[in-house]
Amino acid sequence: MLTNDQLALWDRENFFHPSTHLAQHARGETTTRIMRGGDGVYIEDRDGTRFLDAFAGLYCVNVGYGRPEIAEAIAAQAKELAYYHAYVGHGTEVSITLAKMILDRAPSNMSKVYFGLGGSDANETNVKLVWYYNNVLGRPEKKKIISRWRGYHGSGLMTGSLTGLELFHKAFDLPLPQVIHTEAPYYYRRPKAEMTEADFTAHCVAELETLIDREGADTIAAFIGEPVLGTGGIVPPPAGYWEAIQTVLRRHDILLIADEVVTGFGRLGSMFGSDHYGIEADIITIAKGLTSAYAPLSGSIVSDRVWKVLEQGTDALGPIGHGWTYSAHPIGAAAGVANLRLIDELGLVSNAGDVGGYLNRTMREALADHPNVGEVRGEGMLCAVEFVEDRDTRRPFDPARKLVPQMAATLLAQDRVIARAMPQGDILGFAPPLCLTREEADKVVEATVRAVEATLS
Ligand code: PMP
Repeated sequence: MLTNDQLALWDRENFFHPSTHLAQHARGETTTRIMRGGDGVYIEDRDGTRFLDAFAGLYCVNVGYGRPEIAEAIAAQAKELAYYHAYVGHGTEVSITLAKMILDRAPSNMSKVYFGLGGSDANETNVKLVWYYNNVLGRPEKKKIISRWRGYHGSGLMTGSLTGLELFHKAFDLPLPQVIHTEAPYYYRRPKAEMTEADFTAHCVAELETLIDREGADTIAAFIGEPVLGTGGIVPPPAGYWEAIQTVLRRHDILLIADEVVTGFGRLGSMFGSDHYGIEADIITIAKGLTSAYAPLSGSIVSDRVWKVLEQGTDALGPIGHGWTYSAHPIGAAAGVANLRLIDELGLVSNAGDVGGYLNRTMREALADHPNVGEVRGEGMLCAVEFVEDRDTRRPFDPARKLVPQMAATLLAQDRVIARAMPQGDILGFAPPLCLTREEADKVVEATVRAVEATLS
């Protein structure tokens, strides 16, 4: 068997890691952690050390690790038929079944699902569909996409532009000119401390209106947003936000893309974040929780309204010029079917609401009074703790201190709990598998308190 040192050397010599400090890694200054197995909320490295993964990989292993039902479905599909394409009306039993299962669960105005591989390519598809939609309707100028600062929608050229985080823009000549950004619905970072949630919602709406007036509604095709900001800091919206935003979008005939890559299939304690917040989207992006990451698969769920125009477009223009070799890949579809069945059988949507609510409450009780905790926030099985140097002024720590990465490392070393230092701000994020129990939630909270004490004492 290869030793860890041998693998770490090969890794440094050959492997270009995503979202990694390349130079530090090549110099051997960062850890090469090699994972081997897992079950439920636990994951195990090659030395047999077990970690409680309170971030479910990258908030994607929603049913937990090591589910034989999904592994067996994948194996059976691979033996029967590993691949056939979905072009010109082709399909497989699993891909057709999965499309029906998704539509059965999706909001009632949804009509069809286009399959991709990951969240980034699904959002790429969405932008193309929205452009196509306006071309078919004879509105070639209506093409810009509004996204929010701190939104995360992928890291391709268009989707990296939609993402509203500096790290994804500054060294890549992004954003592309068709993308414009508006205020993040981030109440804790509201511009004036005395604002109520309702005031702040009104402020976000006013900012959106100003942007639309400045650019011209006839140049704007769509608004994209996550029901709860994820990678941008795990931030649930202020009261009334989605209702008010949708009113503005409808008035200006701007389509709404709900990016449910994180929130889809139960994470908030509802099947979709759209159900949770009363969002009536024109397109919904799904990925991660669709297969619980047992195989790569994503989707763009398209509403009746959009679908009718797409159909009209192909009558006029011929087959739609958009497709991936791996659209509706049967292995991914088999994982999706088995995963959605398991979510139902195990009651994971209601468990996410129940245990997620418990996790948020206990985290708040344990940490809300700490002098460096600005806010504990979350919804369902999403939770975040934001740290500040000064609670009264909400002044952040000096970024050079790398407080939260250090805290996450301590949490891992002391108690073997995995949380995520969110990329922008002093925010420690939790997004456990939806099968988390109350006992496991207690463990996460107790370990976090110890890591906070160790890092800030
Ligand atoms: N949208 C959201 C809301 C996401 O959180 C992510 C990934 N974290 C993406 C899109 C992109 O997905 P992928 O990394 O699979 O391309």
